[in-house]
Amino acid sequence: MAEKRDYYEVLGVEKNATDADIKRAFRRKAKECHPDLHPDDKEAEARFKELNEANEVLSDPDKRARYDQFGFNDPMQGGTPFGGGNPFGGMDFGGMGGMGDVLEQIFGSMGGMGGMGGRARRNGPRRGSDVMAEVRLEFREACLGCRKTVSFQRRKKCGVCNGSGAKPGTQPVTCTTCKGAGQVRQNSGWTTIVQGCPTCNGTGKMIQEKCTGCGGRGQVLSRETREVNIPAGVDEDSVLNVSGCGDPGSNGGPDGDLQIRFRIASHPIFKRRGNNLYMDLPVTFTQAAMGAEIDIATLTGAKKIVIREGTQPGEEFRLTGEGVADVRGGRKGDLIYRVVVEIPRKLSDKQRELLQQFDTISSDKDYRTRKGFFDALKNMFTGG
Ligand SMILES: [Zn+2]
Ligand SMILES: [Zn+2]
Repeated sequence: MAEKRDYYEVLGVEKNATDADIKRAFRRKAKECHPDLHPDDKEAEARFKELNEANEVLSDPDKRARYDQFGFNDPMQGGTPFGGGNPFGGMDFGGMGGMGDVLEQIFGSMGGMGGMGGRARRNGPRRGSDVMAEVRLEFREACLGCRKTVSFQRRKKCGVCNGSGAKPGTQPVTCTTCKGAGQVRQNSGWTTIVQGCPTCNGTGKMIQEKCTGCGGRGQVLSRETREVNIPAGVDEDSVLNVSGCGDPGSNGGPDGDLQIRFRIASHPIFKRRGNNLYMDLPVTFTQAAMGAEIDIATLTGAKKIVIREGTQPGEEFRLTGEGVADVRGGRKGDLIYRVVVEIPRKLSDKQRELLQQFDTISSDKDYRTRKGFFDALKNMFTGG
């Protein structure tokens, strides 16, 4: 992490700045780098986090006093940099929702901030929330792709009131508190605070007789199913986005998305790492010694491979392009198999006799690794 900048420097104020100076500086700077105004701008996002952290400390008299005294090395903070945590926790700055409230606190009515897309204006168009679904896949389904029926819950426009929330035959009326603006203003000293209207929850409309189908919310929860093509190569960290299948937007905003995540069953033979597949290939000790042609499994079926004479336990071989297709682009990984030599656990008299004969006619040169080991051992004790 880069060197932390002094909080006063971040906000661009003097050490003796008043609370109002700090508030004003924060608002002015936040407009320059708020993630909602600069989407996909990593630098602006980083500056905004830094700004927030500085504001958190300097706008709190207690924290400010400690900061003035100890800087970033506050002993009360256990030696970690002061306020090192992101005040937003795990909040996703790229995501929808959530930031609207922060934005309102910072910008109030958004006066003079035209072209904001209306996220902070509660009665402007709002995108519906995303909904989640989890799908269980067999190992090969994830590798090769498949078609699945996905079940999920989303909100839907209430069919009884057609989304108005008003009992059929009645109409929503203009909110008397905000006169339909969806916002109320409050003068507080140097500034006017504009908040979402508490009476109508920012919609500008009031429902006198609620629809019994949805309790006045205009939306109902509904369980839905949808056939979805799962592309080859999805993994447990993949998210498949089906756009427009989330909660409905309001005031003309777009619907949210359906986000599908996967639980993938393990496989008795294959292990997957990225787009490569790994497997153990058991062979007999005679196959390893003499070489053999062996049927092995790939994702798509059996394949003949040849292991050469003298194959060693643990040796790895690679079948290029027999792995998993990359979920973006489709380029395939490899299948890597490792030779596991199996030794008979019990010998018959005849087998023992033949192996005994075999051993009699074998010498050191047949066992290179073993010879090397004992040579090294001998040298250890003769000071070599
Ligand atoms: Zn309804
Ligand atoms: Zn209102």
